[in-house]
Amino acid sequence: MAAEPVAPESIASDPFAAEGLALDQALEQVLAALRPLDGEERLPLAAALGRVSAEVVRAPADVPGFRASILDGYGIADDTPPPRGSRWRVRGRAAAGAPWAGTIAAGEAIRILTGAPVPDGVQRVLAQELVAVEGDVITLEAQVGPNPWIRSAHEEAAADQVLLEPGVRLTPATLGRLAGCGLAAVAVRPRPRIGLLSSGDELVAPGEERAAGQIWESNGTLLEALLRQLGYGVAERRVAADDPAALREALLALADRCDVVVSTGGVSAGDTDWIRPLLAEMGTVSFWKLFLKPGRPFAFGWLGGRPFFGLPGNPVAAAVTALQLLWPALQCLEGAEPQRLPRLRVRLAAPLRRKPGRPELVRAHLMVAADGAVQAELAGSQASSRIGSLQGADLLLEIPAEQGDLEAGALLWAQLLRLPIF
Ligand code: AMP
Ligand code: MG
Repeated sequence: MAAEPVAPESIASDPFAAEGLALDQALEQVLAALRPLDGEERLPLAAALGRVSAEVVRAPADVPGFRASILDGYGIADDTPPPRGSRWRVRGRAAAGAPWAGTIAAGEAIRILTGAPVPDGVQRVLAQELVAVEGDVITLEAQVGPNPWIRSAHEEAAADQVLLEPGVRLTPATLGRLAGCGLAAVAVRPRPRIGLLSSGDELVAPGEERAAGQIWESNGTLLEALLRQLGYGVAERRVAADDPAALREALLALADRCDVVVSTGGVSAGDTDWIRPLLAEMGTVSFWKLFLKPGRPFAFGWLGGRPFFGLPGNPVAAAVTALQLLWPALQCLEGAEPQRLPRLRVRLAAPLRRKPGRPELVRAHLMVAADGAVQAELAGSQASSRIGSLQGADLLLEIPAEQGDLEAGALLWAQLLRLPIF
């Protein structure tokens, strides 16, 4: 990976250094520093879901490749809509996968079924509901419109047409279209291997006894599950105490085996917060601290040539910063343009009390009223330690730094916590 670490000195001259870096500036710095990982692999289509394409794919031929009937009915040679009462003699039958080899002349028809190749000479298909059948003669009993009900030989794609560019995230519809155009496999970019370290003296594994002052370690599970939801796997998970030697060992091992190293906790300025000094000692600190709530303690830098994300210890802050900064970075390492969550304007369902200070991402539920109007309802206490505020959240309300109390009905920008389906 050819990436230019940003010199730590640049922090000193940053006007935001005291408060931390604004989220959009932080994102810009992170993305500017990253390059896609090398390599590619070829996968069967279904196995490539969610991966990023590594090649240009062109249609090998016209698709469907023949003119096809859109209806069950009768094919006729008339090139303008025939009048009611017109009659034709039925000469043959064409079905999907069973073409009729003849040609028809004026006054003749063929029985034709949906998806059947349209024989030479046939200019339109009459829906079977519009005709009366008597032996091998059909009579038009209704008015017909201008639609000939025939799909073109290259409706889905023309031969050599570009179906896929490199750097595109593969969705069900894209994969289905490739299959429909006769392709069985696609080259994809490697997914970054993620190493995740949860740090803290107080952490004990869930399921184990908790001694006085200990807490059950949740960031590992929360982040691994979040990353999986976003299409990434965690290659290795570690837990370490706030001990420089233990942290050094864990960080170096993860940097050795993974493409991205992520830690949580220990990245503030307390006596036991070793992450930033260790990053400075073993690698490079590109920036430290975000001007954001939740998520002020945050470090980005380089460790053994790998991008490093030092996320906050509080679970909500860790998850929110992972979504805002780590996710775009992972997409960039995969060679895809980072997708942004859709943003919309929503009204607050109830007043929101807050002090001006830091920009805030507030967790909320999207409520749809009977008239279709949408409203945001806060997901309870916004403490960055309360994972409950993330549960079922549909929105991250974007509240500007200088904003104080907000009344019910106030309009806010919000990120919609939804991923594309097709
Ligand atoms: P720190 O950033 O290390 O000061 O941690 C901030 C808060 O997050 C503290 O209350 C920690 O106990 C808590 N915390 C840190 N790591 C974790 C973790 N892995 N799981 C749950 N809580 C954590
Ligand atoms: Mg700590």
